[in-house]
Amino acid sequence: MEEYGLTTQLVHAERRQGVENGAVHKPIYTSSQYAYDDANDLVAVFQGRPGFSYARQGTPTTAALEKTIDQMEGGVGTCSFATGMAALTAIFYTLLKAGDHIISSQFIFGNTNSLLMNLARLGVEVTQVDARDIEQVRAAIRPNTRMVFMETIANPGTQLVDLAAIGELCEEQQLLYVLDNTMTTPYLLKGKEVKAGLVMNSLSKIICGHANALGGAVTNTGLFDWSHYPNIYEDYQSGDAKNWGLLQIRKKGLRDMGATLSADAAQRIAIGAETFEMRMERSCANALALATFLEQHPGVVSVSYPGLASHPQHERAKALFADRGFGSLLAFELQPQIDCIDFLNRLNIVLLATHLGDTRTLSLPVAKTIYHEMGPEKRRMMGIADGLLRVSLGIENENDLIGDFAQALNYYI
Ligand SMILES: *Cc1c(COP(=O)(O)O)cnc(C)c1O
Repeated sequence: MEEYGLTTQLVHAERRQGVENGAVHKPIYTSSQYAYDDANDLVAVFQGRPGFSYARQGTPTTAALEKTIDQMEGGVGTCSFATGMAALTAIFYTLLKAGDHIISSQFIFGNTNSLLMNLARLGVEVTQVDARDIEQVRAAIRPNTRMVFMETIANPGTQLVDLAAIGELCEEQQLLYVLDNTMTTPYLLKGKEVKAGLVMNSLSKIICGHANALGGAVTNTGLFDWSHYPNIYEDYQSGDAKNWGLLQIRKKGLRDMGATLSADAAQRIAIGAETFEMRMERSCANALALATFLEQHPGVVSVSYPGLASHPQHERAKALFADRGFGSLLAFELQPQIDCIDFLNRLNIVLLATHLGDTRTLSLPVAKTIYHEMGPEKRRMMGIADGLLRVSLGIENENDLIGDFAQALNYYI
């Protein structure tokens, strides 16, 4: 299937894996346990042969979705989780221990930031740098550095680090490079292209796309040599060393922590994934159109969107995403005399809600909602102004969206 385009691959992915009775979707397997006629088979599954035992470790439905996500990322193995945060928790808590050091970008998802702060309380040293400047990443490396964590397009500020150069730095220093690809998805960028060792995708966002299921996935790109990684337990140092890390994540992070993706959610995500490329094309086009409109409007002070020539990393975005688009999220600031809450209340189509990557366009006042808990000082460090509005573009018709923002803005002009 690899010779086909992404959507062709995706709409035929499950069928090609051999779905029972010619069905086109993998059924929702509700069984919690999987029984065997011969006790030898039960033993073999417990000792590593592919198969199912207890649904906390996965079902045929989650396994089918894992193969699809793996195909999207061009990986060598994928493990699914109940949410994107569960996937990140599994990565950090199974691969790091007290005394280790992790470097992360200072522009990261708020809940991930909170998770890293908790890791610091447990004795992992955390350094956050302005990774737009790779020298800051290089300067932060210590003898106990194990992992470098980056996001592809920062939310909500849309800052963009040089993902490929950081990949080379990690390769040169033999550091594990973990990339959160949620904002770009494998449509805009595959983690492997920038030399990431592990790629996390929140499946709740663009990949599911219809705001009807939560999920997350960790994909092993096969590029990292785990035989040099000091935190792999002896039990998981068997077979090809390129698989050790994901095996440990599956055993310690999925089986033991137990944040398993339900079969029900997995099937809804798999159906959403069939159209994610088309939705992404449309949302990226809508985002560019709205960003261009907002930038020219007198009621708007500034717009952050990597597709605009005014974006500080516009050239970097063009190189990384190779003209496929610039993402489906933008942020903007209104003129100070316009109250952002009053403005939001004038929108008719746009939903006032958190979440992103839905078919519907969503907006919220960032400092008062998702970054409220963080406090003013941290917000300043992350470049979040008090009046900043975030917009996650859906797939509505472009003219309707521009019209909605125009009528709300024109009230003040
Ligand atoms: C939403 C999000 C997550 C967390 O995913 P959930 O599925 O909501 O747990 C992680 N990283 C980024 C960049 C996100 O946008």
